[in-house]
Amino acid sequence: MSFELLFLGTGTSAGVPMIGCDCAVCHSDDPRDQRSRPSVLIRYSAASAPTQVLIDTAPEMRLQMLRHGIGRLDAVCFTHNHADHILGIDDLRRFNAAMGTHLDIYADKRTTTILREMFRYIFEPHNNVNQSFVATLVAHEVVVGRPFELHGARWTPIPLMHGRLPIVGFRVDYGGKSLAYCTDVSSFLPESYPMLENLDVLVIDALRHRHHPTHMTVEQALHEIDQIKPKRAYLTHIAHDIAHAELEPNLPEGVMIAYDGLSVDVWG
Ligand SMILES: [Zn+2]
Ligand SMILES: [Zn+2]
Ligand SMILES: [Zn+2]
Repeated sequence: MSFELLFLGTGTSAGVPMIGCDCAVCHSDDPRDQRSRPSVLIRYSAASAPTQVLIDTAPEMRLQMLRHGIGRLDAVCFTHNHADHILGIDDLRRFNAAMGTHLDIYADKRTTTILREMFRYIFEPHNNVNQSFVATLVAHEVVVGRPFELHGARWTPIPLMHGRLPIVGFRVDYGGKSLAYCTDVSSFLPESYPMLENLDVLVIDALRHRHHPTHMTVEQALHEIDQIKPKRAYLTHIAHDIAHAELEPNLPEGVMIAYDGLSVDVWG
């Protein structure tokens, strides 16, 4: 059995380095300070070919997939419709071509509706002027608090608040282990907490130290980690305010900063 969390992107919406920024972090030599837009791959298997589920399609999705040699996906789950989480969607068509089949996508009603509006050429291909090579996606609506099954794992959409926008995180239970991916969260709801119990791994938004209306600060994230008590926690959606090597030694035991390319063995 295997159960892996692979960080494809760990940066905030503008990425790090940011265009036109002269700060020290944007010019850092530490490869962990190079952060593409946020996305993770969840991999699990009882046999040889693992199930591979992508969470969000960042603008760098194509490059993230090439970097890790990923040519096959079993499903894509979306947390919300912000550009840093969806604009790589067009490149999903390569998975259709490589696998010779449609791709199942999972999102809540709000995100599904917006994806259909924004990407009409994908979801209403019969209206395109020319016949073109677009992704073949089959949308499945998920509801917070209502688990669904994906290739032998139980996925639970967790209600999160992203400022005033309700979005979803995902809890994955597989083979007695569990992880939760909570990006772009500024606060949890009372009903979120029961879905965050007994976690082996928690991934949580920690944008920077200064307050932000739609993201947690590092301090807020640490406070939540202290309440939720996962075995291990990883901070993500990091802005250029944070230099990896500076923050890391100041974190409590069991809390790490994620970086692009980091693979976490959920069994470990
Ligand atoms: Zn974001
Ligand atoms: Zn900068
Ligand atoms: Zn967002």
